[in-house]
Amino acid sequence: AVQLNNIKKCYGALCVLDGINLSVEPRDVVAVIGQSGSGKSTMLRCINGLEQIQGGSIDIVGHRIEPGTHSLRSLRKEVGMVFQSYNLFPHLNVAENIMLAPRVVKNVPKQEAWETAQMVLKQVGLADKVGAYPDELSGGQQQRVAIARSLAMKPKVMLFDEVTSALDPQLTGEVLKTIAELAAAGMTMILVTHEMGFARQVANRTVFMYKGQIWEEGRSEDLFAAPKTPELRSFIAPNL
Ligand code: ATP
Ligand code: MG
Repeated sequence: AVQLNNIKKCYGALCVLDGINLSVEPRDVVAVIGQSGSGKSTMLRCINGLEQIQGGSIDIVGHRIEPGTHSLRSLRKEVGMVFQSYNLFPHLNVAENIMLAPRVVKNVPKQEAWETAQMVLKQVGLADKVGAYPDELSGGQQQRVAIARSLAMKPKVMLFDEVTSALDPQLTGEVLKTIAELAAAGMTMILVTHEMGFARQVANRTVFMYKGQIWEEGRSEDLFAAPKTPELRSFIAPNL
């Protein structure tokens, strides 16, 4: 589904992704962990075509991104991305927030967009909030609406960037549960997370980034049970 071939991303002389190779199969759930500044968000943004790369190439659901490739609108329709801040439109209710992109970007008829909105809301456990406005929802509920909004585009791959880090622990649980259910339903996902327990349980593979490189990767179970590098060992030590 996604293949990163020796990608490089530099800001001037500073290369924040330094030759990343990664292959994600359909239905894979890949957790990306690593310390602040290691390049996790940048990698997701490159995969989504939000950032230009300076070297290598990315193959993603039939599209190819290379240095010089400009943002691909067609790619954006097939790859969902959810961020830490959910950025719902405050003046639109939940259904309207969810229907907007399918209506505007994909010209989906109103009735169909409405039915999809109800379906994705059910998926995230918020069928009863269809008419609520964002400020009437908890942070966790808003984040689940943001996930539903992304699902409404029927993406082939979902990218999550620390979607729970702005939430209280108790709200974090409900969002992680939603993501775990998506994983169980076979969605291909790459998720940057600080939740080591979640990575271990839900992701079939985990990637540890260190200074712009994939330092270590493997089956999540193996990686957490037996880290090979001192860098990963000290990174996960506080969580053991
Ligand atoms: P965190 O866990 O804090 O979110 P991260 O692993 O997601 O960190 P990135 O946001 O990918 O890290 O940043 C990687 C490096 O790239 C950092 O050193 C950062 O300062 C640098 N960087 C990111 N965006 C830019 C930019 N627009 N211009 C210059 N440097 C940038
Ligand atoms: Mg980040």
